[in-house]
Amino acid sequence: MSTTPEPIISRHVAVIGAGAAGLVTARELRREGHTVVVFERGDQVGGSWVYTSKVDSDHGLTRTTVHSSLYHSLRTNLPRESMGFMDYPFLAKEDPDRDPRWYPGHREVLMYLQDFTREFEIGELIRFETEVVHRPRLRLRGQDENEMVLEEEEIFDAVVVCIGHYTHPQVACIPGINKWRGKQMHCHSYRVPEPFQDQVVVVIGSSESAFDISQEVATVAKEVHIAARTVLDGVFGKQLAYDNMWLHPMIDSVNEDCYVYFQDGSFVIADIILHCTGYKYHFPFLETNGVVTVDDNRVGPLYKHVFPPTLAPWLSFVGLTYKTIPFPTFELQSKWIAGVLSNRFTLPSQEEMIEDVETFYSSLEASGTPKRYTHCVANNQVGYNTWLADQCGCPAFEEWRKQMCYDTFKRRLTQPQSYRDEWEDQHLVL
Ligand code: FAD
Repeated sequence: MSTTPEPIISRHVAVIGAGAAGLVTARELRREGHTVVVFERGDQVGGSWVYTSKVDSDHGLTRTTVHSSLYHSLRTNLPRESMGFMDYPFLAKEDPDRDPRWYPGHREVLMYLQDFTREFEIGELIRFETEVVHRPRLRLRGQDENEMVLEEEEIFDAVVVCIGHYTHPQVACIPGINKWRGKQMHCHSYRVPEPFQDQVVVVIGSSESAFDISQEVATVAKEVHIAARTVLDGVFGKQLAYDNMWLHPMIDSVNEDCYVYFQDGSFVIADIILHCTGYKYHFPFLETNGVVTVDDNRVGPLYKHVFPPTLAPWLSFVGLTYKTIPFPTFELQSKWIAGVLSNRFTLPSQEEMIEDVETFYSSLEASGTPKRYTHCVANNQVGYNTWLADQCGCPAFEEWRKQMCYDTFKRRLTQPQSYRDEWEDQHLVL
């Protein structure tokens, strides 16, 4: 832990977003002695975990007004204990209204976040239905009881951005797609399988969402064809466990007669292309004169995915990293920010942070990692979280948590359809 002789200071801090990241950030900032206001454009806490059946009019392809990307049947892809915050475990409750499963449905996660909000009295810090539309002098937009749009400005010492990054769809670039006469949608707008009844569906992607959704769509569709850039543990061709599912290499092109050609020369005639191709980082309210930009899904430059060196510590981001265990990582990032703002922890000099970022980017380039994977910490998640914990002088991820996650990743490959319901990790829960 770095210490500094400077006096401990209480700051006035704005947190943007009341999802898991914003909630834990608010708690950590207040624990550190700062005053906090959380701005949330929705009318409740939970962010991504607030399920809605609403979808955008063009299926989320060009315009996004709906925040959450949850589908109706979604269950967590991590066991609940490993997913929860480090000092507020996500335990099953003996309440008939709650979902006690080890991999619960999305409503249970929302209820856990509501419990967290109550337990730490965070609700009183949140201004709901208040969208941040401008920074650094925060400009806020809300509505009064007559639905008049109100705009005001408020000054803060620091801003922490916690707005998530699973809302703005990234779609695949496919030669010929402009002439495609079939349907298209992004999984941001997928809710239930019924609209795919008897359809020939091409799903693009090999993420967890692509996998879950393909399986569900296969229960009603005529055929499901998955086009994947990377296949971790599968073989192209007909999938053994299904009558109507095939795995293909990526799409080469499509045409106006609804032919979809794959890179191995095979083709299908499809009704719909479903893009499970990820999301874009998007910060419409950030005006930093180019100090922080989004370039091919790299938000940067950022020191350790959190602080832009030339605006640190006054601007920071929680929750940009992915392929980590999200909630505990948010917890560590926000502890670090809170301590830096109060002077309890010291950041390196601006030049040192810039050098660190440049070294990191060079290492990505040297290993052939595209910019768009900058915030993917999959191969270094233990290292990254241990580094954060060291900055804060607190313990890093517990051994059982790491083990539970590794076991889940392995089981997902070997028993993809049943990994949420068949396991032997009881000793880790204990
Ligand atoms: P969000 O939850 O997206 O919250 C952001 C908040 O910011 C929202 O409430 C939004 O309304 C608000 N906001 C946005 N812009 C503004 C603005 N300008 N002004 C004011 N407020 C604003 N994680 C897991 O740990 N386990 C899982 O099983 C899991 N499954 C997932 C499945 C899917 C399909 C998806 C998409 C994600 C999944 N995740 C999972 C990841 C999940 O998104 C994170 O765990 C976490 O909930 C993200 O929290 P967040 O606070 O960063 O963002």
